Amino acid sequence: MNQMIQSGFLSQEVSNFVSKTHHLFINNKMVAAKSGETFAVLNPANGEKIADVPHANPEDVDDAVRAARAAFESGPWARMTPVDRGKLVWRLGDLIEKHADELAQLESLDNGKPITAARGVDLNFGVELLRYMGGWSTKILGNSVPVSLEGDWHAYTMREPVGVCAQIVPWNYPLLMAIWKIAPALAAGCTMVLKPAEQTPLSALRLAEIIAEAGIPEGVVNIVTGDGRTGAALVEHPDVDKVAFTGSTDTGKRIMKTGADTVKKVSLELGGKSPAIVFPDAEMDVTIPGLATGIFFNAGQSCTASSRIFAHKSVYDKVVAGLEAEANKAIIGPGLDPSTTLGPITSDEQFQKVCGYIDAGRNDGAEIVFGGKRWGNEGYFVEPTVLANTTNDMSVIREEIFGPVVCVIPFGDDDGHDELVQKANDTDFGLGASVFTRDIGHAHKLARRIKAGTVWINTHLPNDVALPFGGYKQSGYGREMGFEAVELYTQVKTVLAKL
Ligand code: ADP
Repeated sequence: MNQMIQSGFLSQEVSNFVSKTHHLFINNKMVAAKSGETFAVLNPANGEKIADVPHANPEDVDDAVRAARAAFESGPWARMTPVDRGKLVWRLGDLIEKHADELAQLESLDNGKPITAARGVDLNFGVELLRYMGGWSTKILGNSVPVSLEGDWHAYTMREPVGVCAQIVPWNYPLLMAIWKIAPALAAGCTMVLKPAEQTPLSALRLAEIIAEAGIPEGVVNIVTGDGRTGAALVEHPDVDKVAFTGSTDTGKRIMKTGADTVKKVSLELGGKSPAIVFPDAEMDVTIPGLATGIFFNAGQSCTASSRIFAHKSVYDKVVAGLEAEANKAIIGPGLDPSTTLGPITSDEQFQKVCGYIDAGRNDGAEIVFGGKRWGNEGYFVEPTVLANTTNDMSVIREEIFGPVVCVIPFGDDDGHDELVQKANDTDFGLGASVFTRDIGHAHKLARRIKAGTVWINTHLPNDVALPFGGYKQSGYGREMGFEAVELYTQVKTVLAKL
């Protein structure tokens, strides 16, 4: 870390935060974990330890859930008007914006992502989402419902906050995923216990301080750090009403099963293997950068990464050469270096997994057009990798790699509309998909038939705070962002009065 400070990449302020003794955040207080157990947080750019963070055990989780329950049932939050709630959510956005440079550095150090992306995308998006969600707090409406019963009646519905929420997030966009979870839950009037991923807990711990600074009442947002055991304790807890999870499909399945014991409301945002279809009429100046951003942004660690590209035979070579050129342009290095465009993979475990998939692709007969190796000799860097001549039975096509590895598959004129749709949909996942063509009618027709929660046309990856985001099939269910996210944190009550 000293080297980073000396180089001017890391501020003394951020370094001081990282070096301090970290705590759990319960009832707006920093508290030590009961067991005293900690785990190490590593810098993915060199594998060195940067911090020790407390591991919350089931007793700590119980304290956090109690705090959230008390704040939900009584106290200022339970009585707060929607306008005041909205102001607090907005204020949290303002404070995050005020601390955005510092948070971006922290995120880049912990997760490895380029500082320019952390600041320009993760932080800006998070602030925007808080402001957007703050606006919804005053617009959560019920209906007045005409009923057909005999006599005089008055019936209406209202949307009430669902209660205490456990929010479990992954390591690819640590702070942004935390904000995706807490912003709509706050707008709806819920209380929550957030668990960041064990690989990347630091930005959530700094967020805890900012939540207290924003004046959000105690117990409304609690933050516990720990690994899957801490997450499991939250899912098992009988006083948690809802679990909102983003992470791998396997863990999501486990959470669904465990949540069933106490009939928790569960929403899941899981893995993806998003197809991108390139037609002969596609504008290459738009298509190539779109596909490259789709797969190389965040080192491919995006659940909607454009990892499965179907390119028409007539443009196949152009697509492969274009991706190769884009991969060649990548400036690989530590995320904190402002010139870096491709940072390391976030953890050693994930790094090994990505390397394993590249080897499997090679052994299965895929052609490695670019990359295919580790970069440098420290940290978890993988070269941007382009695999050509991949086929649908290969593991690199069927499974989520979650790294900067793109597979290109040719299709021909004998693949009609139906065959192409069938190929794009031939996956367990259904999170994102894209279509590149100048024929807009064709694109919209395909958009209807592709089984994915988001279909992009002539782009791949962008999200907006107003657009619902989530999965079809084994990519999960429930939608984040847009009003759909607020709905996810509410339940409908019917009131029927005999007049
Ligand atoms: P990955 O395998 O990519 O690390 P996971 O889905 O395992 O992704 O992790 C995402 C989040 O889920 C992390 O915060 C992790 O600690 C948490 N988690 C892992 N296992 C469980 C579990 N059994 N129950 C609840 N949360 C879990």
